[in-house]
Amino acid sequence: METEQTSKLDYLLSRYNKPGPRYTSYPTAPVWPVVTDPSSYINQLKKLARSAGGPISVYLHIPFCEDRCLYCACNVSVRADHSVADRFLQHLETEIKLVADQLGFKPVVDSLHLGGGTPTYLSPEQIHRLMALLNHSFDINFLSGELSVEIDPVVTTNDHLDALSDEGFQRFSFGVQDFNPAVQEAVKRIQPFEDTYRQVSEARRRGAQSVNVDLIYGLPLQTAASFRETLKKTLLLDPDRLALFSYAHVPWIHKHQQVLDQYQRPEGLEKLSLLMDAKDFLESAGYRLIGMDHFAKPEDELSVALDEGRLRRNFMGYTTLQTETILAFGPSSIGFIGGEYVQNQKNLKQWETGLSEGRLPIEHAYQMTTDDRIRQRAIMDIMVQFAVFYDDFKRLTGETFTDYFREELAGMDDLEADGLITRFNDRLVVTDLGELFVRNVAMRFDRYLMGETGPRRFSQTV
Ligand code: SF4
Repeated sequence: METEQTSKLDYLLSRYNKPGPRYTSYPTAPVWPVVTDPSSYINQLKKLARSAGGPISVYLHIPFCEDRCLYCACNVSVRADHSVADRFLQHLETEIKLVADQLGFKPVVDSLHLGGGTPTYLSPEQIHRLMALLNHSFDINFLSGELSVEIDPVVTTNDHLDALSDEGFQRFSFGVQDFNPAVQEAVKRIQPFEDTYRQVSEARRRGAQSVNVDLIYGLPLQTAASFRETLKKTLLLDPDRLALFSYAHVPWIHKHQQVLDQYQRPEGLEKLSLLMDAKDFLESAGYRLIGMDHFAKPEDELSVALDEGRLRRNFMGYTTLQTETILAFGPSSIGFIGGEYVQNQKNLKQWETGLSEGRLPIEHAYQMTTDDRIRQRAIMDIMVQFAVFYDDFKRLTGETFTDYFREELAGMDDLEADGLITRFNDRLVVTDLGELFVRNVAMRFDRYLMGETGPRRFSQTV
């Protein structure tokens, strides 16, 4: 039986483990053209001002890290010298002011997320200054909004946690990845369990309402036994949520990852087994799988939102937030406004230069088409709830799923024969087995991948 399952998985990997998007957006970022003229973005801001619409989300990207973790795929500027932070805040102030000038009113912010890089690269005083900048231009909903921050326990101090909790942050996402010392040494991220445990406790002592832990499977030197140990230690932290990301080895994009080629790295079936073991382990510990790579306690809002059909996916993963507009600040940050994706200059210097010249420093913009919206609905339903219910789809898009995607559905015989999906009269369902290959199912609805022959832009789907 064991051998039968193994050869089935081997077969599926040989067919489906290929480069593909993670679908934190649709269309995905490589589709967005280079646009440095911010006039369309400015028009969207003016439209938002005229509508004085509902609450929005704000994302702030702090791009600095003291050192580089070798697996990292984030947009990072490695600076051991913190003197750059003040200049960064000055530019951020300019960017916030340029946006606020177009808005002319203080939008209510229901969600504020500090990401990076390392948000606590900023000193506690700089965190207060940053929040003063934001409070000046936005009406942050401290009562019922979500203020969340990514924490690197290696550089975060109790003073940082004090500053963050004083400023109303209640959601803390701790970057862990793996607790095994050999794995940590290989990826150059030394982070003893005891330090992380202490920080999580300190965050809770300051009233943290939600603790998330990020792990990565597929890192060099990971084994089934070592990763099981990491999971056991992680549960000692009693997280409300866990994110279990697949390591994306893309050294042709992130050159620093080439160093990791010297180590043995779980790939193919071995890597997939890490995910399957982790899923079994976490589910038997009472966590629920949320979408592709998140787990949550049953009482967590993510679980509740999944049951109530309110769960969504965006650049930060899975979320319960219903706000459509995201204003984003900082290099490489991605916003969404009026159906348009807007990404800032990824290069720190170019981002700064744009702001020094008094213009919004964007690098990519893309206005979604009607077809994009319809396909986005299908893809996000698959990525979030592993199913598309045709009645809901019709209600939300006005389109009959089986008519709109007649060709796509007809081309899915292989997925069904391989046991990854089932096509019913009223719904398309991703099977338990198909959940492991959910990106491949979603890809069938991606218009921009049809006939794709260009350079490799994505990581492997498993
Ligand atoms: S701390 Fe996070 S953002 Fe910084 S290098 Fe490491 S993984 Fe990348």
